[in-house]
Amino acid sequence: FGVVLIFRDITEQRRAERTRAWLSAIVESSENAIVSKRLDGTVTSWNPAAERLFGYKAEEIIGQPITRIVPPELHREESAILARLRGGERIRHFDTVRLAKDGRRIDVSLTISPIRDDEGEIVGASKIAADITARKTMERELRDAERRKDEFLATLGHELRNPIAPIRNAIELLERLPPGSQETGQLSAILNRQVRVLARLVDDLLDLGRATAGHLRLNDEEVDLAQLLEDSITSIRPAVRDKNQTLAFAAEEPGLKVIGDRIRLTQMFSNLLRNANKYTPTNGRIEVRLARDNERAAVHVCDDGIGIDPELREEIFALFFRGDGVRAHPEGGLGIGLALARQIVQLHGGTIEARSAGRGLGSEFIVRLPRADAQIFDTDVARRGADAPQSRRRVLVAEDNPDAAAALAMLVRSMGHEVFVAHDGLAAVELAQQVRPDAAFLDLTMPKLDGHGVARRIREHPWGGAVRLIALTGRGQVEDRERTAASGFYRHLVKPVSADRLHAALTDASPSPPQDD
Ligand code: ADP
Repeated sequence: FGVVLIFRDITEQRRAERTRAWLSAIVESSENAIVSKRLDGTVTSWNPAAERLFGYKAEEIIGQPITRIVPPELHREESAILARLRGGERIRHFDTVRLAKDGRRIDVSLTISPIRDDEGEIVGASKIAADITARKTMERELRDAERRKDEFLATLGHELRNPIAPIRNAIELLERLPPGSQETGQLSAILNRQVRVLARLVDDLLDLGRATAGHLRLNDEEVDLAQLLEDSITSIRPAVRDKNQTLAFAAEEPGLKVIGDRIRLTQMFSNLLRNANKYTPTNGRIEVRLARDNERAAVHVCDDGIGIDPELREEIFALFFRGDGVRAHPEGGLGIGLALARQIVQLHGGTIEARSAGRGLGSEFIVRLPRADAQIFDTDVARRGADAPQSRRRVLVAEDNPDAAAALAMLVRSMGHEVFVAHDGLAAVELAQQVRPDAAFLDLTMPKLDGHGVARRIREHPWGGAVRLIALTGRGQVEDRERTAASGFYRHLVKPVSADRLHAALTDASPSPPQDD
């Protein structure tokens, strides 16, 4: 009888020990800071995550008052917390700020529970602190975006209403005038101008909506840049004349061509020109320069107007961003022109940047677009790829539908990668052999050799093992995925593929799951 009892005691003791070891392992390995303190605020335990978050080693802070990590102005908060704990209350998700050893302020979310001894007496408290700095930053950014959106809607209302008053007046007058009089001519000129303003606003808004949703469809034609710039300049001439400004255009190299959408590109350059005209006082000077820049064509749009604060050089491209002075500016716009311009340029595989020596010192916008004759197969670009930063990849696009291939190439190029295009399976294998890509998007149904065949041939080469193969197909059944996996594909993407998924397929580092869409 006695033996059995002792035996059971030992088992229970062992079990308790094991539980304790288990619990302490959980605390030690937790990602959240876990701290305990007595009811007088003295720290009694401090796990490794707390060391990482607050910067104090356990031996430095155990035995010290918890107020070490409480900002001075929040000491009162700590007494209130201790009082609630004494009453047996549990405090959940209490967002506050704590001080790290180096004085940094950290946004934390606390959950604090009373600790009771065997008799049920409250003797202290355990505290779990989660670092919510990232969440707080995001909340601030969201509030910012929200504020900009509200401002945008208010401005939009204004901008849309502005042309309506003159239109309504003109129509009323027209109804009263005898037909064919001199005034009717003037009035219809007003109507024309104001309706154009409205139409432009609506077009920009629609394009912006499409661009942000990823549905902006681009034509793919060869465009002579000098010709295109002439067209954009013609559209802005009247406004330039109104402000008595001069506008000079210099094409340093004739015949520079790009592949792209004529209408969007004209719209983009017109936007830059309209800004130059708007943000430059009367009698100012605007200059457009077209030049070759290695494998790209560069367009400079310069003015000697109000200039840009160097700190805002990037920010002006944000959606709905409008400069301080601009809000009061009679011609101030909606803050979408540059955001749209950047989208359009990026969809063409190009870049846009702003330069200015400062306020009042004029501005320069530089658009760089890949030259048509250097787009695919540029050995210069290929060679330079070797010392380019890691994130720039060499990407093979194999797709027989020329439109789909061009769109995909443009998209991948806009992500900063080098792109090589092939239109059938055999050409794809040959091109891969030549350029040794880091990744390849392979359409599964191609003439001459299908995507599976291309994948297998690439994998046969010693360099082929390192190529990230991504299948593009209309079919996403389990059997289809199993087949692409068997052919050595890393990803199986079902068309239509969004930019996000393309990007993820190219860059994500996780080896699993190898198959998704
Ligand atoms: P907006 O409709 O306000 O002109 P944009 O997106 O075209 O919107 O431009 C954003 C902001 O960039 C403008 O509000 C202005 O502050 C600044 N900006 C753009 N172009 C110029 C320029 N040529 N000179 C000075 N500031 C400019």
